[in-house]
Amino acid sequence: MDRLRFDEDMKNTRGSVRTGFYHERTFSMKSIYTCPHCGEKSFNPITKAFAGGLHTRGKACKNCGHHCVNGTPSMIFSAVVYIAALIMVLYIYFKGNSIWGLACVAVAYVLCRLFDAFIAPLVKPIRNDVLNS
Ligand SMILES: [Zn+2]
Repeated sequence: MDRLRFDEDMKNTRGSVRTGFYHERTFSMKSIYTCPHCGEKSFNPITKAFAGGLHTRGKACKNCGHHCVNGTPSMIFSAVVYIAALIMVLYIYFKGNSIWGLACVAVAYVLCRLFDAFIAPLVKPIRNDVLNS
């Protein structure tokens, strides 16, 4: 069965149940991809992952053009992950395998991007120069 047919069948048989479910999730839960300025769900995991932290300029919302950043949980998570990575790097360095230290930093970076993409909420940036622009 091809993809299009499959989607059509899903729509015909369980359409009402599925849309009901999605509507409930969209309107009762505030999505982490919702812009804090205009309330539009204008971000996706990829744009959100690269939106940056509280002290960066962030990424402009596609709908209203204001900047959004990843909130405090993201900042705390990345601090913890990078401290852990630093300890690992030093530990590995003194063991004499410095190339694996780079791998630790890469893993820490990927973990932080994943956390930003799927867990941390979007907030308004706290930098004055961004808020006033
Ligand atoms: Zn917006």
